[in-house]
Amino acid sequence: MESISSPVEMFFFPFVGGGHQIPMVDMARMFAVHGATSVIISTPKHALSFRESIHRDQQSGRPVFIEILPLPDNIDIADSDMSATPVTDTSMLQEPLKKLLLQRKPDCIVHDMFHHWAADAIDNLELNVARIVFNGIGCFASCARENISKFKPQDKVDSKYEPFVVPGLPDRIEMTQSQLPVTQIVQDNMRKSKENCYGMVVNSFYELEPAYVEQFKKGNRAWIVGPVSLYNRNIADKAERGKKAAIDEQTILSWLHSKPPNSVLYISFGSSPRFAPQQILELAHGLQASNQPFIWVIRNVFKGEGAEFLTEFEEKMRESKQGLIINGWAPQLLILEHGSVGGFMTHCGWNSTLEGVSCGVPMITWPISAEQFFNEKLVTDVLKIGVRVGSLDWLWWNMEPRVSVGRDMVEAAVKRLMGGGEEGGEMRNKARLIGEMAKKAVEGGGLSYKEAIALINELKDRRRIIE
Ligand code: UDP
Repeated sequence: MESISSPVEMFFFPFVGGGHQIPMVDMARMFAVHGATSVIISTPKHALSFRESIHRDQQSGRPVFIEILPLPDNIDIADSDMSATPVTDTSMLQEPLKKLLLQRKPDCIVHDMFHHWAADAIDNLELNVARIVFNGIGCFASCARENISKFKPQDKVDSKYEPFVVPGLPDRIEMTQSQLPVTQIVQDNMRKSKENCYGMVVNSFYELEPAYVEQFKKGNRAWIVGPVSLYNRNIADKAERGKKAAIDEQTILSWLHSKPPNSVLYISFGSSPRFAPQQILELAHGLQASNQPFIWVIRNVFKGEGAEFLTEFEEKMRESKQGLIINGWAPQLLILEHGSVGGFMTHCGWNSTLEGVSCGVPMITWPISAEQFFNEKLVTDVLKIGVRVGSLDWLWWNMEPRVSVGRDMVEAAVKRLMGGGEEGGEMRNKARLIGEMAKKAVEGGGLSYKEAIALINELKDRRRIIE
């Protein structure tokens, strides 16, 4: 630990992969803007995806650094694309992490709960390093998940599609068994990480889910500091966030400039989408029938039955300029904040949800896995800025994807949100207002801004007490 007058040193230890690594890198950069020295702990391969943006931060004088953990035999953690799964074993990082902490003794370490070994390993060092947990989701989902696990309302229904009310929440929220995780692994990791932790940082903002922030804070010491994506302020940061985009920014921007305001539907299902080929085809048919301009990020292109249709579809959409298909990584923030984008069809990953919200864009919700069905409820039932496509079944990352949403469901949802009707217009207005609140939250005087500063000050005070 440094002398009392030196800046607070915060270590960030993200999980290896898109939906968890991206916000934590943003968070480290955000704390550096607010006066902390941030150090992101990573591996040689995973650091490549954010090295450039950190370099840009450093050039503009921000104290944010990357610390690469040496790996045994130089073998990095498997990662075929962007996201590891919640069961990816990262324990080979344990010894190098412990060594680093013993050497550097930072004021705190913020770690992702998916490093399931990290809580014990850090606590056992007895170093007086404040251990803070990042769980990667919002307060609504945390409270809903907690209450379902505590009260087990799902055990009181007779079938998997019979709705039950989630007890103890500020709003009446109905769910079905089919929308709940079939495994407890994430819940178990969370519980373990939370035991004896100093507190939690949450990527959300008070105005988005006030009653749930309050409920969450009753059971947890927490700092609500988001949306952290809003700290990506220059075009290069937005275009390369997470990974270099498969399309250059000029091409995408000029395509978007050619469309009327609020007319384009942006479609993306996160960092590691898994769809059955037949499901991709249903989506394509639905989009074609909706006649709405769209940008579709489609990474798992397939061969075999139906592939020909998709190639022709892509060509037809390109020629007619109705749709732009991105085969690979999309510059999501650049797209979402463009004035021509009027809707976001999303799998409701928490980052995507928050990014849609921050850009003031209403959504078509298509949850698939993790806590995404909870996020759907927040968007549609609480905030009322989204239309459900109608997906009903939770799918684990290693389960065979199925067709759950037909082309008619896609077409209906697109028309409801984007078709120019009153309901879509109201959702758009509401989304815009919430987007403005998001931006205010991270500006000087905003609540997220204040909470970030409060954490830094608390760590500083703690240093005085320890010394
Ligand atoms: N993302 C992106 N381009 C893509 C796909 C995803 O920039 O083509 C980013 C997106 O902006 C978000 C993250 O990857 O920050 C995905 O996180 P989310 O929680 O939405 O979903 P997950 O990938 O964890 O399922």
